[in-house]
Amino acid sequence: MPSIPWAEPLLRGEGTAQRRAIAKAITLLESTRADHRAQADELLTALLPHTGRAFRLGISGVPGVGKSTFIEALGLYLIREGHRVAVLTIDPSSTVSGGSILGDKTRMEQLSVHERAYIRPSPSSGTLGGVAEKTREAMLVCEAAGYDVVIVETVGVGQSETAVAGMTDMFVLLQLPNAGDELQAIKKGVMEIADLVVINKADIDPDAATRAQAQITSSLRLLGMHGNAGHAHHDESLWHPRAMQLSALRSEGVDRFWEKVVQFRTLQTANGRLQARRQKQALAWMWERIETGLKQAFRAHPAVRGQLPDMVTAVTEGRIAASTAARQLLASASVPTN
Ligand code: GDP
Repeated sequence: MPSIPWAEPLLRGEGTAQRRAIAKAITLLESTRADHRAQADELLTALLPHTGRAFRLGISGVPGVGKSTFIEALGLYLIREGHRVAVLTIDPSSTVSGGSILGDKTRMEQLSVHERAYIRPSPSSGTLGGVAEKTREAMLVCEAAGYDVVIVETVGVGQSETAVAGMTDMFVLLQLPNAGDELQAIKKGVMEIADLVVINKADIDPDAATRAQAQITSSLRLLGMHGNAGHAHHDESLWHPRAMQLSALRSEGVDRFWEKVVQFRTLQTANGRLQARRQKQALAWMWERIETGLKQAFRAHPAVRGQLPDMVTAVTEGRIAASTAARQLLASASVPTN
């Protein structure tokens, strides 16, 4: 990478030098300055050939379910197994209000100081789409630096779960061992995107955890049947979402969890779904960014800016049809419509 010499330690450096390069790269990617953006794109292009080898794991769950306890236990387990672990967070509360549900400072105390782990809190400004973009790019930086497990964590509020599922290979939903939460997850449609549901805190009430596991397992089967247009047969070459229980606090079941992840990865690699998922994600991402870019450019167009307030009032008051207003605004920005 002759044009970005400081990023060299990112790929080949170790310890503090590499860490510093990673932090610098991510800061550059998070910058909104136009000249920084150009450098950031150059950096991404240079890093891209070194990405894609990590396993990307998405983890979500309501505040208090035990995400940080679980990720700490899992991260330490993975490091013992010889992995390098990066943890990135998307916290919609920190982007909207400046607050943070995930309260990053005191979380994952052991993992955050481990030399084989890298933890990056949520970017703290911008829309969810913008924050997701930064996180996705930070993920590529971590992969290029040799982290072979990248965990993207989010809280179970808003659209952030869809965003995380849309950038990871496997999406895991953490649940508490009571049925109320299970119903909530089904209602919100999160269950549909979960590849694995983990019932945490099984140590508190093992019976409740076992009941929850049975309930969630049957819900997942039902969802699977709908998803496959009524084909209930069990195809062994495909992954079927499942539920398991563990105790993050006691680090019990973390090894079984990872076994399932490896099983998922092996199956989805063999049947081509893993690659297909990444390809689909990359294209969806491109279109998402194009749409956002177009919208921004449209709103910034002088002719649109001039007309927009009046148009908004006219549509609100019912003096002009919404579709007519849209066509006129598009035309004034020289966008052909039909
Ligand atoms: P987060 O908000 O999802 O990140 O949840 P935390 O990891 O901060 O956990 C919330 C609380 O639940 C903390 O007091 C944890 O110690 C506790 N907790 C997490 N996992 C378990 C578990 O497996 N068993 C029990 N008994 N408590 C747990």
